[in-house]
Amino acid sequence: MELWFTEKHTPYVRFSIKVDKQLYSGKSEFQRIDVFESKEFGRILTLDGYLMLTEKDEFIYHEMITHVPMSVMPQAQKILIIGGGDGGTAREILRYKTVKRIDLVDIDATVADVCRKYIPQTGASLDDPRVHCHFEDGLKYIRHYENDYDIIIVDSTDPFGPGEGLFTKEFYGNCYKALKDDGIMVNQHESPFYTEDAYAMQRAHKRIFASFPISRIYQAHIPTYPSGHWLFGFASKKYHPIEDADWDKWEKLGIKTRYYNPKLHAGAFALPNYVEEIVREVE
Ligand code: SAM
Repeated sequence: MELWFTEKHTPYVRFSIKVDKQLYSGKSEFQRIDVFESKEFGRILTLDGYLMLTEKDEFIYHEMITHVPMSVMPQAQKILIIGGGDGGTAREILRYKTVKRIDLVDIDATVADVCRKYIPQTGASLDDPRVHCHFEDGLKYIRHYENDYDIIIVDSTDPFGPGEGLFTKEFYGNCYKALKDDGIMVNQHESPFYTEDAYAMQRAHKRIFASFPISRIYQAHIPTYPSGHWLFGFASKKYHPIEDADWDKWEKLGIKTRYYNPKLHAGAFALPNYVEEIVREVE
């Protein structure tokens, strides 16, 4: 018998990974959570049937969502992660000894518990004393903060289900308010390739562009996400993502990365023409 995990990327495209076994399956108050074991990608976390991470390629996503803003502001001390209950983003931030505190706000405590147990590669970071987990809706949490965080990383699910509120104007406006005067917000920005995903990413960019003086998009290749071509948003009150990156300082930190490097950081902001067009349309 063959077992396969299959995700629908569009009504006409499916992506499948052969799995050896299902390690966990459960339903929390918010979503269905599954963990699979596979030969090619190692352990796989899915929420409501959508692939969140695999042990083999999570480093790409987590390095790119973390080291791009951290190399622009290597002096950052107080970081907020919204979503990210798998712990991968927290793990990357913990590599900066200068960071004093990470608040991680995920709506679903079960995701964190499942990752601690089944995917310690990311989940173990959640038990670090610098990481403070808050299990509540990020949309509500952010309303109570002003001038507080250096960097906010929005490591959310897609813009439907519990993650929907994290793609709204209200949310981006409140992130702006919660950031210090030179603060940076980075978010996972969906894919530009398939029509529906491209629409979601354009709508998110329109809202972020209207909320921050500096708003740019960068890309990475993530093999297990729809189309493999994934975008991130870089929004900032003051710093330009390339001109203000302090790569000498970053390199002196000696952080060993597998995907991220300063040249790639600069190159990641050079978008293909069809993506530029989608983005420009709403600027
Ligand atoms: N890297 C992933 C991706 O793009 O597929 C995101 C992974 S991370 C597991 C996403 C997390 O966002 C989930 O743990 C989910 O519980 C959390 N989440 C969804 N909606 C949320 C909300 N409104 N507030 C806080 N966390 C939320």
